[in-house]
Amino acid sequence: MVLEDASLALLQTALKRLKEGFNTLPEVEQPLDLEAVQNLLLEVAERMQDNYPYPHPLYAGQMLKPPAPIARLAYMLSLWINPNNHALDGGKASSALEKEAVADLAKMCGWERHLGHLCSGGTVANLEALWVAKNLHPGQKIVASSQAHYTHSRICKVLDIPFLAVPCNPRAQMDVGELKRLLETEKIGTVVVTLGTTATGSVDPLPEILELQKDYRFRLHADAAYGGYFRLVEDLAPETKQAFDCLNQVDSIVIDPHKHGLQPYGCGCVLFKEPTVGRFYHHDSPYTYFSSDELHLGEISLECSRPGSAAVALWATQRLFPLVPDGEFAQGLTQSCQGARILFNKLQQDSRFIVAFPPELDIVIWAVSGERASQSSRLAQAVFKAAARENLHLALATLPRYLLEQQGVVMEWDQDFITCLRSCLMKPEHLAWIESIWAILDRVTEGVLKGENFVTNLND
Ligand SMILES: *Cc1c(COP(=O)(O)O)cnc(C)c1O
Repeated sequence: MVLEDASLALLQTALKRLKEGFNTLPEVEQPLDLEAVQNLLLEVAERMQDNYPYPHPLYAGQMLKPPAPIARLAYMLSLWINPNNHALDGGKASSALEKEAVADLAKMCGWERHLGHLCSGGTVANLEALWVAKNLHPGQKIVASSQAHYTHSRICKVLDIPFLAVPCNPRAQMDVGELKRLLETEKIGTVVVTLGTTATGSVDPLPEILELQKDYRFRLHADAAYGGYFRLVEDLAPETKQAFDCLNQVDSIVIDPHKHGLQPYGCGCVLFKEPTVGRFYHHDSPYTYFSSDELHLGEISLECSRPGSAAVALWATQRLFPLVPDGEFAQGLTQSCQGARILFNKLQQDSRFIVAFPPELDIVIWAVSGERASQSSRLAQAVFKAAARENLHLALATLPRYLLEQQGVVMEWDQDFITCLRSCLMKPEHLAWIESIWAILDRVTEGVLKGENFVTNLND
């Protein structure tokens, strides 16, 4: 079964329990044309068939992972209330759940004390972190690696902060030597480290960057939107593990529960080590806050209305799958990493493919061998399409020349980048499906290369 539905019956029971909380109120008529709703719902179901099969293990392309059934159900259940976590008046219970869920995320990052909240995603979470950084270091530059998410340079434009990209080393991590050079010559207020880049899952060398704080003063922001949860995984390369181990030493952290945290979209999180940065959010709203002296989440977030349902879903998920290294959730992440390493080893041993560097997390990226960069790119695109026809869904990503040059991918660099194949093995089930994934990849690649030879011969 691709779309889980056994859990759906639980919703009705839980809804009945929810209703009991409101049974002192007089009944209200709620006319509903069930037939019209059903017809439309069936039309929606048909329209939604036009999607790639994201929940299936043979979908091994972009960063997409189905929410846990508990997240889906808790979200749906809370929609009968539709709480708004802007203020306690609009989302009393769900604001409490948000504070608990966010405290658990902070704890996972090693912080007993923090200021933080949920938001719509990694983009807004990073925007808030960089906005606070600007307030603390006005006029100073923000730097992130050239493989950091493009959102950082764009956010800096929005916030009018001067931004610089730090070149990467051949493993797509921030080059610490280059960072040091920039710290020497530029006025840098904040360094953004990426723990798990979006393209390759590379982890910036945080321990060495922290060392630089002995000689240079700068704020550290960790964009762990993708990789944050891997702090729970023991079975990582030592260097990668060390970076996650010192995550608690940065000043702010972004982590996306809607990436690896089993949540529906619309769930990002920003965390600050120093709660006093809450002062930057200060505003005098004449109308929202009147019910209590407790903290309203709207007082510490830039977005106003926010789905309390996202908090409800996250809280329930973290209760079922606690954020601990020896728990089921961490086990799932470990399986994803194992799957990535197995796929990497197969690719490495196969002369038709070239891998740039071993995966640090669960993302594998590889090029197809070719004589010219343009030909290699074309072959990757052909394999991508042929695989999709066989129900194996991969992704494409371009890697710059410097990340592939040392591997001798191609003989002639007729362009400075190569389109590669990429696979985010985010679902724990991917591990058990690696052989099937490989069998399809092997078959379709053979077909593509045969076709290529045929075309080449014709051209000769
Ligand atoms: C996905 C991602 C973002 C952007 O987050 P959204 O949730 O898509 O807004 C930022 N940084 C990194 C490292 C990411 O992987």
